[in-house]
Amino acid sequence: MPLPAVFADFVSLLFPRVCLACQEPLARGEDDLCTDCRAQLPYTDYHRLPPADNPLARRFWGKLPVTHVLGYLTFQKHGRVQHLLHELKYRNQQQVGRVLGRHFGQELAETGYLDTFALVVPVPLHPRKLARRGYNQADSFAEGLATALGCPWHPEALRRTAATESQTRKNRLQRWQNVATVFEAARPDLIEGQHVLVVDDVLTTGATLEACCAVLLAAGAREVSVATIAVA
Ligand SMILES: [Zn+2]
Repeated sequence: MPLPAVFADFVSLLFPRVCLACQEPLARGEDDLCTDCRAQLPYTDYHRLPPADNPLARRFWGKLPVTHVLGYLTFQKHGRVQHLLHELKYRNQQQVGRVLGRHFGQELAETGYLDTFALVVPVPLHPRKLARRGYNQADSFAEGLATALGCPWHPEALRRTAATESQTRKNRLQRWQNVATVFEAARPDLIEGQHVLVVDDVLTTGATLEACCAVLLAAGAREVSVATIAVA
């Protein structure tokens, strides 16, 4: 049975629920994100543009046929988006991924993307990193997106096969070579003939997502698209 409102208010005085983005207390009726953050987060809105005008798509031009490149928020240092990603990645706040995935998925569904994807697949973490962190930060976003878009997601459709050295001191070509060999399609039966949406927390150079897309296409995916929470 739901708590009477007055009791719920009393509980929230003792244990205030806070906004995942700005940490201000949530008002009654607000869930996860406050009204202010929902209105003012830096949405890219690129999914509303014709695909040819989407500036994110350029990151994959001349490399792979990626059908849709979708990024929800613009990454800003020290801003709300950085805080959200930090909570998701380092503080076990998987609710962040689920909530943002659900909101973005609802928007995508309303702008013509319903029935576009057959499967949502998160970029896998290296098993050692997964063991250390205890979860893959891309999983909850994949789950939220898939729920809103009404399609399945699978956390192990792709697998990491080898250790990846740190990317930070490498140039673009070295980074590409570094990631190109580390993914494999663990579930080709789910992938073959399908339009697969690959998701990650942040889109930077796109090298990791590109490597995942290449593996999916080689495993028989009909089309590949990518979606991230934030775009750097
Ligand atoms: Zn807020």
